[in-house]
Amino acid sequence: MTNRFYQFRHGLEQLSQQGLYRTRRVIDGPQAVVINVNGKQVVNFSSNDYLGLANHPEVVAAFKKALDQYGVGSGSAHLICGHSHAHHALEEELAEFTGRERALLFSTGYMANVGVISALVGRGEYVLEDRLNHASLLDGGLLSRAQFSRFKHADYADLQAQLLNNAGRKLVVSDGVFSMDGDLADLPLLAGLVEQYQAGLLIDDAHGFGVLGKTGGGIAEHFGLTQNQVPILMGTLGKAFGTFGAFVAGSEALIEWLIQKARSYVFTTALPAAVAEATRTSLRLLQAESWRREHVQALIARFRLGAVQQGLQLMDSFTPIQPIVVGDSQQVMAISSALLARGFLLSPIRPPTVPKGTARLRITFSAEHQFHQVDALLDVLGKVIP
Ligand code: PMP
Repeated sequence: MTNRFYQFRHGLEQLSQQGLYRTRRVIDGPQAVVINVNGKQVVNFSSNDYLGLANHPEVVAAFKKALDQYGVGSGSAHLICGHSHAHHALEEELAEFTGRERALLFSTGYMANVGVISALVGRGEYVLEDRLNHASLLDGGLLSRAQFSRFKHADYADLQAQLLNNAGRKLVVSDGVFSMDGDLADLPLLAGLVEQYQAGLLIDDAHGFGVLGKTGGGIAEHFGLTQNQVPILMGTLGKAFGTFGAFVAGSEALIEWLIQKARSYVFTTALPAAVAEATRTSLRLLQAESWRREHVQALIARFRLGAVQQGLQLMDSFTPIQPIVVGDSQQVMAISSALLARGFLLSPIRPPTVPKGTARLRITFSAEHQFHQVDALLDVLGKVIP
């Protein structure tokens, strides 16, 4: 190719030299704790399938049954002819589950975040985001054309200063559980601050739903906060729910506004109805089978105790996200390869997913893990981390 526009080689080589080149592993078979990578069985500590529902027989059966009823494609956007009984019922059940008036399905979490932020703020207004927010929230802030600024991670004094300095409509945005660190936003404090400054609050609880709270209601249930305190609550279905898609829950008026204004809702094809039906089953399992949450907590406790005994440096997290920061991107790649050779899949997480110099192993736990697998992981980590 002689057209200079298409010359990507140099850029790709640079990424490779910096240890930032990304490649995909081809997995055989369903998502599970033991998966087949390149013909080899490995124990997977990288998935967000926290409750082990992605391949649950009842979820799979619900999906198959719904395929017979609804077919595969949903045919169009929700507002044209793609909104089925399955979608509608799931929205009603999610509203009840979250204790909010309404819920609205989006096709992915990324789309929910960019759509919601852009629907709520625009030119001449403000969006204030935690520095470690998920990329989709940051991108949503940029796309909205509102004045976009970030506050230091979980530093609510910094946020307060920014709330004070900016006159006009403001939206505060934060992850509930931070996706690469596993720590929680101080939601009671945030809720108080936005009330004081009459700002909006959007919480992305992609990693909290299913995992936190007595019935899996996520960070809002964990802190016992209502719709009034956390008015815009977003969750994804591809993690603890084990399916695909996302939702936003809140007041009747908020949801009606999003139906009119969220461009990533209006201008995209609806999720397949069968995905919605499968999710209805996983929502029921997620609430009923509290042993899944309890077992994950027991795995985390065992891991943290063992890691401390080995002198491994952990982060301040009690969620299934247990990162070990290595720092250098090349080094984390080498450690990840050594782990794979010993039968453990732990994907290396590097910039720009995390800040420069903080490349890490992001260890995640699932209700399907067993204690002996955690012990084996600890043993191998002790050998491969310098
Ligand atoms: N928010 C957070 C905090 C996430 O971790 C993710 C997914 N990694 C998303 C949003 C995007 O969700 P989805 O994968 O459904 O697009």
